[in-house]
Amino acid sequence: MKSDINYTQLKTDFDLIRKQVKTDLGSTDANYIRRIIRIQRLAEIGGRVVLMLCFFNLWFLLPGMLMLAFAKILDNMEIGHNVMHGQYDWMNDPNINSRNFEWDIASDAGSWKRIHNHEHHTYTNIIGKDRDFGYGLLRMSDDLAWRPKNRWQFITYLNLSLLFEWGVAYHELAAERVFKGKKKSNRTSSLSDSELKRMFFSKAGRQIFKDYLFFPLLAGPMFFYILAANMGANLLRNLWTSTIIFCGHFTEGVETFSEEECEGESKGQWYYRQMLGSSNLTGPRWFHILTGHLSCQIEHHLFPDIPAHRYYDLAPKVAAIANKHGIPYNTGSFFKQYGAVLNRIWTYSWPDKKNNKDKSNQPI
Ligand SMILES: [Zn+2]
Repeated sequence: MKSDINYTQLKTDFDLIRKQVKTDLGSTDANYIRRIIRIQRLAEIGGRVVLMLCFFNLWFLLPGMLMLAFAKILDNMEIGHNVMHGQYDWMNDPNINSRNFEWDIASDAGSWKRIHNHEHHTYTNIIGKDRDFGYGLLRMSDDLAWRPKNRWQFITYLNLSLLFEWGVAYHELAAERVFKGKKKSNRTSSLSDSELKRMFFSKAGRQIFKDYLFFPLLAGPMFFYILAANMGANLLRNLWTSTIIFCGHFTEGVETFSEEECEGESKGQWYYRQMLGSSNLTGPRWFHILTGHLSCQIEHHLFPDIPAHRYYDLAPKVAAIANKHGIPYNTGSFFKQYGAVLNRIWTYSWPDKKNNKDKSNQPI
């Protein structure tokens, strides 16, 4: 951690932003999320109806699949991820709160909240503590020793992107070595292996039943067409979510931290780590909504429980604070940031590449 930063002032600056938004929360935010939920429902119902029109013409499969993919993306990104962070708990709406929201994806909501909300958002980019850094599959920094399997990590990455919902669903079970591997001596999970397995199979089973059996069966002779369209919608959603999440966490300038340097960390240092552990994407408003405002990943990491649609207006204020304290603010267009992600995956596929560390520490 850099020593020439006034972490106390940094904390004061970010706490003030947080307080201002928190006191301003109200009907605008509630109306916003309710409107997004209405649009999501319409897109999902509409998509499933349009798919059924394939009885008349097979071309209906394409718009039906795209509408369903759009509904799933909204459900997972702008609604599910944000509601499960507790961003709308203050509304006291039984259907829009982090305690009992369940989303249209293979991963069980409880598992997501344990791994993502707690682990990833607390220990962001601390090697050895944040299991989201490379997901235990990819070497994304030279803090991790190179292993021969890293040569193929570009292919691993492509597979992970296509099957992203299953990677997310299996993440906690892999980390807890539920099916294979030696149990870690410092296991912290309060759940037994059998509970984790039961929740995994129950959620995965419901998703498979809904998308690959129930709706295809409703279509009778068109069973395989509807099955393929549902599969296509899930694949599109997987590719989109994975790409956006990689752009928020693994661009060139994103830094990593060691457990030692984060020991006894102050709140100001925590804010600093969150800023350096994330990157943003620029784009039109509709693009931000489709990313669940994870295009403002820096703001999300600083304020994970503030309604995400607020990040868009917060971003210039956060950038000004970063500038004031001499902290890099990593942002760019989708193509620039995604190019940097692909470059990072490729660079760390190989051993002893000189300047890796220097490069990853350079502000963009
Ligand atoms: Zn999050």
